Amino acid sequence: MRAIVLGSGTSAGVPVIGCDCSICQSDDPKNKRTRSSIVVEKGKTRILIDTAPEMRIQIVNAGIRSIDAVMYTHLHADHSAGFDDLRAFWFHSKENMPVYLRDYYMAELKKRFYYAFENTGYLGAVPQTDLRDIPDNSFRIGDIEVEPIDLPHGNVSSTAFLMGSFAYATDFKRFSPEQIANWRGRIHTMVSGIHFGSHNTHSVIPETVALFEELEVKRGIITHLSHDVDYEKHQNDIPHHCEFAYDGMIIDLP
Ligand SMILES: [Zn+2]
Ligand SMILES: [Zn+2]
Ligand SMILES: [Zn+2]
Repeated sequence: MRAIVLGSGTSAGVPVIGCDCSICQSDDPKNKRTRSSIVVEKGKTRILIDTAPEMRIQIVNAGIRSIDAVMYTHLHADHSAGFDDLRAFWFHSKENMPVYLRDYYMAELKKRFYYAFENTGYLGAVPQTDLRDIPDNSFRIGDIEVEPIDLPHGNVSSTAFLMGSFAYATDFKRFSPEQIANWRGRIHTMVSGIHFGSHNTHSVIPETVALFEELEVKRGIITHLSHDVDYEKHQNDIPHHCEFAYDGMIIDLP
């Protein structure tokens, strides 16, 4: 099993438009962050989690030619705006793309990208999708078993996924004690957010590091990073079993 971090940035990306700070001006490629997204592969199955605004270039840069399904954590623009580029997969496959999301997000997806779901009279290509509910309990996509949980994220909810011993959880404030008990000791590698400072709707780095400890995660990878984080310099500020994600990072999973 393998994961590829396609994007490791927070909603504004890094560099931030018009920002002169040292991290936005840094030459380190690991300080250049497109919006957060990840691909998980096992056996013959490849799942894309979220469609960031840079989805097309992320997929091209990763050398990916096809995916079997998309799963959404939630539909904030930084996680969904690349939806239109799902068109390109159809050019080759001629098959509708399975797109998994929680049932309470169906109406929002159809509102954000109405032209893909209504007959507008447009004669060009629109994304061809097969929308599917993420159920409350475990489900399978090809070779990958997925266990979803819903987490609070401000006034909305974000879904985290446990796949084998790999977990991806972005855009949430906290796990409940029951959720911690349920996933504790089952996770080898976890990718989670986000940057330093304080935040009302996101788990910030000290909270995420504490969560890794509560869940007994062996390898904790922090993503959804802002221009607060210098990849090299701030590595010293997090524990040894934790590291920062970067765009293009390949994570080999046990
Ligand atoms: Zn986000
Ligand atoms: Zn900056
Ligand atoms: Zn969000």
